[in-house]
Amino acid sequence: MKIIESIQGMRKVRQIWRADGQSVGFVPTMGALHRGHAKLLETARKECDQVVLSIFVNPKQFNDKKDFEKYPRTLESDLEIASRCGVDVLFLPQEKELYLDQYHYRVYENEFSTILCGAHRPGHFEGVLTVVLKLLMITQPQRAYFGEKDFQQFLLIRDMVAAFFLDIQIIGVPTVRETDGLAMSSRNIRLAPEHRRLAPWIYKALKSGKSPEEIRKQLEDVGFKVEYVEELAGRKLVAAYLGDVRLIDNA
Ligand code: AMP
Repeated sequence: MKIIESIQGMRKVRQIWRADGQSVGFVPTMGALHRGHAKLLETARKECDQVVLSIFVNPKQFNDKKDFEKYPRTLESDLEIASRCGVDVLFLPQEKELYLDQYHYRVYENEFSTILCGAHRPGHFEGVLTVVLKLLMITQPQRAYFGEKDFQQFLLIRDMVAAFFLDIQIIGVPTVRETDGLAMSSRNIRLAPEHRRLAPWIYKALKSGKSPEEIRKQLEDVGFKVEYVEELAGRKLVAAYLGDVRLIDNA
């Protein structure tokens, strides 16, 4: 596995692959890799000649500075998981280089990004869409893989790629869960033990067949601070806090 930090280095490798007619699969992440990320990488591994994983904790998508500071960073174990999943290139872009424009240029979606998570996290999706567009332009994959766990994000990225006529297939991968149903997330390791025990209630409530109002009440009764429970396109989506850890899920 090759580790590349510079944009120029990444573009060079990309050119060589193009000359060789190699197909490229791309999995962008913020690291603290778990089995959910591994599933994306394994899917890419099966479908593409070359697999690029990026790890970049994107400061622009954090509306809460403390959340950014506390975000888990586990590069050593990430390296192990990445090489186990057959990653060809681990791309570790540097903030300075990625935002040479000082974030003066941004991707702004003004409809679907304003509801659900967008209604509660100002600037979040602007940060996500901007960094994903930059990363797609640098890595120029044929396919890019995103988790359905972040369902709103997946739809926004898919539709951004269509809106700008990028020739990239956006592939959604079903949510990977712990045996107790909790959706895997890098933030789970920040849960206090008593909160970790409560966390599977989200999925249990989502699968109960209850209405969004009933799900909200059930989660609040157990001890969650619920941000939203909504139904959209045949899916129920939840965002809720346990302590200062924000969890999202959908089913
Ligand atoms: P993150 O590192 O949290 O930004 O996530 C990077 C990618 O992994 C995103 O496309 C996520 O949707 C995806 N992902 C995160 N958790 C899971 C999971 N439990 N199952 C499937 N995909 C996931």
